[in-house]
Amino acid sequence: MQLTAKELKAYYKEIVSMVEEQKDYLCELDRKIGDGDHGVTMSIGWQAVNEKLDNELVDEEDCAKVSITVGKTFLSAVGSSVGPLYATGFMRGAKAVKGKTVLEDKDLAEFWIAFARGIKERGQAEVGDKTMVDTLDPFANELETKFTESGEFLSAFTDAVAAAKVGMESTKELVSKRGRSSRLGDRSVGAQDPGATSAYMILATFLNFVQAKTEQAI
Ligand SMILES: [Mg+2]
Repeated sequence: MQLTAKELKAYYKEIVSMVEEQKDYLCELDRKIGDGDHGVTMSIGWQAVNEKLDNELVDEEDCAKVSITVGKTFLSAVGSSVGPLYATGFMRGAKAVKGKTVLEDKDLAEFWIAFARGIKERGQAEVGDKTMVDTLDPFANELETKFTESGEFLSAFTDAVAAAKVGMESTKELVSKRGRSSRLGDRSVGAQDPGATSAYMILATFLNFVQAKTEQAI
């Protein structure tokens, strides 16, 4: 498959809408184990991205430049917590597709693997710490394995998103080891991690986007 810069920007717009729809749910999850602001934080970041998409990015044809602006904008709007994590993710993704106006299967696989691994590296969390890494690490591993086998992005990404979902759901049973929620210790068990949840939603939104695009083409 091919993804143009215009389509990539349309996908980022889909995240903006998805975050607005899920804002309350993400805050509700965060109230159980954190300070209850995750949905609001994500909304602030993506609204800032939306403003760039509507203005300075309108004519941008370079997929890497689009993603760099998304990362930098999210970071300056959000600052701490998830700000540096998503910024690193999108900027590492951008580095993997440097100078490209159209992304092919291999570019897309490399973009998403770099995105997920970049966040893991930046956050220094491991699987089992009850963070977004519980979603992103199995996702990246599955994507790499399946894409290496088939060379086909959509099927590999579909399997990777399924692995991400299992990872996200696994956070319900985990004791938080990172950030504010780690102070709760065993009391954090039973609540799904909000960061793991929004990370899954960002991946699932891309899957829906490329599936819809593929169906339109048939
Ligand atoms: Mg919070």
